[in-house]
Formats: sequence, structure tokens, C-alpha cells
Amino acid sequence: VMGVQKREGESHDPFEVVIENLKHELFPRKHEVMDTDLDEEALKTLVHRFKALVKERSGESFPEDPMTQLFGAIHAVFRSWNNERAVIYRRKYKIPAEWGTAVNVQAMVFGKSGSGVAFTRDPATGEKVFYGEFLIDAQGEDVVAGVRTPEPVANLKSKMPSTYRELEKVCQRLESHFHDMQDFEFTIEDGRFFMLQTRNGKRTGVAAVRIAVEMVQEKRISKKEAVKRVPADSLSQLLSPIFDHESRRGSQLIARGLPAGPGAASGHIYFNPYEVEARVAAGEKVLLVRTETSPEDIRGMLAAEGTLTARGGVSSHAALVARQLGKVCVCGASSLQIDYERGILKVGDRVFPKGEYLSIDGSTGEIFAGKLKTASSEVIQVLLEKTLAPQKSPTYQNFAKLMEWADEYRRLDVRTNADQPEQVQNALAFGAEGIGLCRTEHMFFEGERIDIMREMILAETMPDRQKALDKLLPLQRGDFIEIFLALKGHPANIRLIDPPLHEFLPHTEAQQKDLAKKLGISVERVAKRVHDLHEFNPMLGHRGCRLGVVFPEITQMQVRAIFEAAATVAQAKITVQPEIMVPLVSYHPEVKHQIQLIHQTAKDVMKAKREKFSYKVGTMIEVPRACLIADAIAQEAEFFSFGTNDLTQTTLAMSRDDSGSFLPNYQEKQIIPQNPFASIDTVGVGELMRIAIEKGRRTRKTIKLGVCGEHGGDPDSIRFFHDLGLSYVSCSPFRVPIARLAAAQAALS
Ligand code: PEP
Ligand code: MG
Repeated sequence: VMGVQKREGESHDPFEVVIENLKHELFPRKHEVMDTDLDEEALKTLVHRFKALVKERSGESFPEDPMTQLFGAIHAVFRSWNNERAVIYRRKYKIPAEWGTAVNVQAMVFGKSGSGVAFTRDPATGEKVFYGEFLIDAQGEDVVAGVRTPEPVANLKSKMPSTYRELEKVCQRLESHFHDMQDFEFTIEDGRFFMLQTRNGKRTGVAAVRIAVEMVQEKRISKKEAVKRVPADSLSQLLSPIFDHESRRGSQLIARGLPAGPGAASGHIYFNPYEVEARVAAGEKVLLVRTETSPEDIRGMLAAEGTLTARGGVSSHAALVARQLGKVCVCGASSLQIDYERGILKVGDRVFPKGEYLSIDGSTGEIFAGKLKTASSEVIQVLLEKTLAPQKSPTYQNFAKLMEWADEYRRLDVRTNADQPEQVQNALAFGAEGIGLCRTEHMFFEGERIDIMREMILAETMPDRQKALDKLLPLQRGDFIEIFLALKGHPANIRLIDPPLHEFLPHTEAQQKDLAKKLGISVERVAKRVHDLHEFNPMLGHRGCRLGVVFPEITQMQVRAIFEAAATVAQAKITVQPEIMVPLVSYHPEVKHQIQLIHQTAKDVMKAKREKFSYKVGTMIEVPRACLIADAIAQEAEFFSFGTNDLTQTTLAMSRDDSGSFLPNYQEKQIIPQNPFASIDTVGVGELMRIAIEKGRRTRKTIKLGVCGEHGGDPDSIRFFHDLGLSYVSCSPFRVPIARLAAAQAALS
């Protein structure tokens, strides 16, 4: 209220420092002194010291007038809306800044006998058990602030049996009324029990799915409600790794804390949230280690793999936040001693300086020295690795149920962006209904292949280029056969090559030397060609269909490879549905040019192979001009796929690769609500999409419309695409379940 709080450079709350010092003076030899060890005299001393601290830091005396205190508190709540952690939290959960906050003023009891926080179900696993914590002789704030480590609520059963029974009754009544898991605070005054507040409890992704499914089975909520209730993004937690059994067995357990956020995380330890952010930005895997789970640490928690604390319970705010973020968290590991000044963590007589590796298991609370191997989540073991039987994993079964319900309600199809057979298999296991984007240039990133690709790009003459293309053809054909087989009859949207040249050119001297040797030409010649092909702005350079227009033989080779693969697979009586897509189009004639080539090549292949197969041709829509002339493009194209990455880049004239340097500042200043490359800019880019859809349908009523930019896996964007009436979204394989759920939620909203 009076602004007395941790200053920059200070590692502890100043009031806590005063308490700690007093405890040390009074009990110099005791390791852990409880607040309740302080007697009346000690508390009087504490009050004097607190007042002195307030005077020293704020320049003002602590107000004795109750109204002044009350209004001070009210103003502080309103002000809290703009503190740093509220701003970071809002950004993460997309809560508009203009909403503001409310203040309740209500009479309180002192809670002389104790206070606690309880959940009607376990917020980490979702299990239907009464779960919570309490502190004797303390107030609720001490529990939620995470500066004391409370006792499990089960201990109340023996300590205050009638209160415990009352708590259990309250649990049932709350769930019957709210039809959701509740997180409530209570206090006990001379044996009397008081409820302070209740709200829907924050929970992990695993818990969200389990609670939703079980509440349907308990007939508390409908299937629709269950589908609406699980935040689509939180499904990613059901796919995240756990520690490998073997690796756990051979490891050194150094301490235990409370399991506050499930999952397995290993990383270099750092004690300062800003340092965590910096290390993560530099590419390190990091654990944030703190004495207490203070909510100010949210920036570090967001960046880190996991958070580890010495104090605080599982219902501290920071632990709740970690769970909701899907971050691994172990808290209240009281044997940990953290010395911020010296940058070390002590456990018994072992010392871990910052930067050292630790591993934490947020499902068991275990803390291990060193780096443990992680294993896949149960859902992954069932679906992808097939090492776990579905009936042996309740987590998988809940997941599968929810997905099945989601599929009943969604209208959007969900496809995947994949260019390798294994990615296709994974995506299908996650429920994808085909490929929405196969980036063919990605098929040439690996091994020797990149050199053939480079040979083609660097070729100065048609015969040279043809030589490289002849080498590429069989490789491409082989890849497409495998992809068609992996698809098991589902459609495959294959995009013709779209390489921003800089991604493929050999830039270093060593690369150029190596390539020159392989091609049997001089390194000077390679260097000169690289120099000639240098583009100032490769993203706006000779890429997309511009490559196929200037060098039609490239389009011909690729299309031949696709159709020959299709014919081969069709001959084996397996359905193939190739959809060939022309990228980065802006002009009607360039579309016409490319699509004529495709049809002609199809004819040639069918004739040569004596095999008929069906196929579709269409275009990416990823340039504003293409949106504006979509009616003309639709004369040639049977489908549009919105490349919202490039469409965002070209509409905003904002580089997808370079915007990271200024976008966070734009978000801080609230110039934009969210990163437009992550969540679609519905106002600007969305308007262009509307125009394209309207014009495209005017020419071709049944034109198929999809999205294959990164936005295809973002729940907010998916809602917008549903409203636009698209037929499908396409996203990376591991986001397919999220997209399925988000599509159902869009349909139900
Ligand atoms: C796009 O631009 O949205 C797209 C899918 O293509 P790429 O990301 O390959 O440029
Ligand atoms: Mg693109």
C-alpha cells in the first residue's frame, strides 16, 4: 500500500528481512523458526520495526486512522492492475488492459486458529480428492504469498476433526453449485469455520482434461461444456516429456519439494529472473531457482523450463501460475539454501554454483543433480511410439474421449504441415486429415541433397540446370511415394518449390570450397555466382512462383515427380489425392502460366504411365495483390490456401524474421494486442482474407479454402478462420490436437 517493497538489487521482501533478523536475534541457534515462535513481546518489537521501515522507505508514518488504511488498500488494488506482473500475465492470457480491476470491501474475521486454501479436486492431476493446505495461526495471505510452507489439509482431520468434516461438505456443495473444480480460501476462528472466497481453480492441462471428462461421467456437465472448458493450448502439456525410468534410477536425488507443476525439466540453474530470460534468449535450457515463489518472477518462469523454490506451497500464486502455463514447478524444498549474493545453491554440504545442471520432476517433487534423460508423455507413448497400451493409460483415455467429443462438434477440417513421412504418420496419429502444406524445399535440407539443390540454383545455363534437375527428379519421386503411402488415402497439398535463395546458398568459404569440389568447378566461380545471386531482400526476391516462371523446367521436374509417384501408388490400388499448389502468386498470368504447365505435365505422365489419377491445382494466397484479384486467380485455381505468414509479412511490410527486435516493445506500449505472426491480425490481414474469399467464391462457388501459415495452430486465429467459413486449417503435427479442440470450441462459441 505504501510502496515499501523489494527494490532493484534486493532479493527479499524488506518486511521478511525484518522478520528474519528478529528471529535470528531471538533464536540464534535454531535453524527453522516459525512465525508462531514469536511471542507477544516479540510481535510488539516487530510492529515497531515495521513502522520504522515504512517511515524510512516511504518518508511517511504508518497511518493509524482506519479509513486512511482502508482507502490506501483500495487504491493499492486499483494500482496493482498496472504492476509489472499483472502486465506480463495479461499479455500471456490476452486480457485487454482497458478492462481494469474491481475491489471488494468486506468484513473479515481474524482467523485466529488458522487459514488455508483448498481445491475440490487435485489441480495437478485432476483426481477427485480433497486437496489443500493450511497454516495454523496465520492469515490467508501467508498461504497464497508463498513465503511460508503450509501443512497438507489432510492433517486437519486429526487436528480439527469437525472443521475437516465441514470442509468436506463445503467441497461438495461448491461443486454442485458451480459445476466446476473450485479453489477456495477458508479461515478458522476459535473452532468456527469461515469461507473467504471461491473461484474456478486453475489447473494443469492433464487435470483440465481429466476433470472435464469425469464431470461428464458424473453427469455434472454436458459433453459440449466439457469441450468448451479445456483451454485448447493446455493440451500441449499432455504431450510434454517425463523423466526416463532408467535415467531416474541411476541418478542422484539431492532433495525433495512439493510437486507443484507436473512434467520433467532439466536445465542450467539461475537465480535471477532477468538472467534466466537472457540465458534462454541465448539458447540455453534453464531452471529458475528461487528461495520463495514470488509472483514477480513470472518473466523468469515463462522463459525457464521449470521453477524450483525452497519455500512456498503448491497453492502459492506462483505455483498456480506455473501450472496454468504448463511449466514444471517444484516448490517448498526446504533443504535448499540459496545465496543470491554469491550465486550459489547449497543442499546439505553440496554446493551448486549458478550455471550448474539440475533436473526437477514436478509430478513427484524430486530434485536431481545433473541432467536426466526425459521420456515421452503417456499420450505420445500410446499414439506415436506404441510402447504403452491405450487401456493402461487413463490419461490417454481421457484425452481420446475429449478429442472424440471435439470431433463431433467441429466443422473445420484439421490438416498438417509436413514434409517427411514420419511427420505425416505422427500427424495422422494425432488426428490430422491430410497434408495442408508440404514445403518441398524442406525435402532438400539434409545431407547430400542440399548440394544438388545448390547445383540447380547456381546453374548458369539451361543444360547445367537440367543436369541438376535430372538428379533431383528420382529423389523427389521417391519422397512423394513414401508420403502418399504414409497418408493412407488422405489428400496431400504439395507446394512447388519456394526457396528464399539465401536459405540455400553456400555462404561460408568452407561451404563454397566443398561445393566447388563436388561440382568440379573453381571456388572462384562458385563465389562469383553466390555474389551474383545475392539479394538485398530475399523474402521479397526471386522466390515462390517467380522461380518456376523464369525456369519452367523446375516446375516441370517437380510436377513430374509428384505425378509419377501418384501413378505408381495408384497402380498399387491405393488412393492418392495430390493437390498441387503454386506459391507467392501476385498476377493472373503467372498463375495461368504455372497451372498450364502442371496440366500439360499431368497429361504427359498419364499417357506415359497409362494410369489415370485425379488431382487438383491451386495457389497460395500470401500477397495482398493476390487477395485483391482473387476472382481472376480463381479462374485457374481450384483451391486457395492462405499463407498467413507471408500475408502478414507483406501486408504489414514487417519482416517475419526481423520483427522480434521491436514487436515486444510494441506490445509493451499496447500498440498491438499480440504478435501478429502468432495470432492473426483480424482487422488488417483478416480484411484482405475476407476480400479474397468473397472474390474467389464469386468466380468459383465451391472453391476450397484453407490456411497453412503458423496461425493454423493458434486457437484465437482458428476461431476467426471458422467464422470466415474456411474448410480447413493446417498446422504442425504436435499442434493437431490443439487445433481440433480449438475448431470445436469455435463451432460451439
Ligand atoms: C506462409 O507464408 O504462410 C506459408 C505457409 O509459407 P512459408 O511459411 O513457407 O513462407
Ligand atoms: Mg509463404
